[in-house]
Amino acid sequence: MIMTMWFTEWFGIWGWLIALAIGLAINMPLFIWVRLRRHLTIWACFMAAFFGVVYWMIHPIFYFALFTFFISGNLLTKYRKKDKKDIQDKFEKGGERDTSQVLANGLGGLIFASAHLLIFVFTDNVILSNAFIFASIATIATVTADTWGTEIGILSNDQPYWILNLTKKVERGTSGGVSPKGTLAALLGAVIVALLVLLIEIFWKNPIPASTTWQIYLFIPITAIIGFVGALIDSFLGATIQGFFRCQVCNKGTEKRIHCKEPTKIIRGQEWFRNDHVNFLSSFLAGLIAFGLGCFGFLL
Ligand SMILES: [Zn+2]
Repeated sequence: MIMTMWFTEWFGIWGWLIALAIGLAINMPLFIWVRLRRHLTIWACFMAAFFGVVYWMIHPIFYFALFTFFISGNLLTKYRKKDKKDIQDKFEKGGERDTSQVLANGLGGLIFASAHLLIFVFTDNVILSNAFIFASIATIATVTADTWGTEIGILSNDQPYWILNLTKKVERGTSGGVSPKGTLAALLGAVIVALLVLLIEIFWKNPIPASTTWQIYLFIPITAIIGFVGALIDSFLGATIQGFFRCQVCNKGTEKRIHCKEPTKIIRGQEWFRNDHVNFLSSFLAGLIAFGLGCFGFLL
C-alpha cells in the first residue's frame, strides 16, 4: 500500500471503522426518508444505501456528487407530480424506482471510483488516479443531467423536437425527444454536480491528489460539459437503439411491452434494449470521455 486512505489520514488506524459509522449514520435517515416518500422500492433502497456507503468509503467527494444526484432527482421527480401523470404512462417504469434503475444510475460511477481506488492504493500513478476521479464525477454528472432533463423536460407544454432531426416534433415523453427547457435543465444538473465537487475541492484543502491545482480547476468544470454531452448521448441512444413500442389498442407510443392489457408492437430499436441500459451506457461512455481527456490533460 503506497497511499493511505482518507479515513486513516483523518482518524488514524481505526479510521475505517469511524468512517463506516459516519457513513451509516448519514445514510440511514436519508434512506428512511426516501422510503417514506416512496421514491424507491425496499430492495432499491438497500442497494442505494449500499452504493452510498461504498462511494463514501472510497472518498467523500464521490459520495457528495452521488448525494447531489440522489436528492435533486428525488425532489424533481416529486415536483409537479400530477402534471406528469399522463406522460409517465409512456415510460416503462413510473413512480418508485427499482433495483435495476438504481444499478443503471449508480454502477458506472462506482466502477470508475473503484478503478481510482485501486490505482491510488497500489500504484503512484497520479495521472490515472485523477483521470478515474474525473470519469466517476462525469458519470454522476450525466445521470444527474439526464434526470433533470427528463423531469423538467416532460413538464414543457410544447412538443419536443426529435434529436435525430431537430425540424421534426415528436409526442411528449418520447425517448429521443428534446425540448429547450429539458436541455437547459440537463445542463444545470451537470453544472450543479461539478460545482459542488469544485467547492469541496477549494474549501477542503485539495482532496484530489494532483501535480498542479490548475489542472483540477480546469478539469472539474469540464466534467460538467461532459455530463451534459452524456445526457445528449442518452437521448441519442433513446432515439436509436432503445426499444420503442406502439399500443395496438390505443395507438399510443410507449416504452411498455404491455399497454391497455395487450402486448405492444415494436416500432423502433432493439426489443431488449431498455431505458436502464441507455442510462448505464450513456453515463459510462461519458465517463470514458472524461477518463481520456483527464489522461491527456494531466500529461500536458
Ligand atoms: Zn394502449
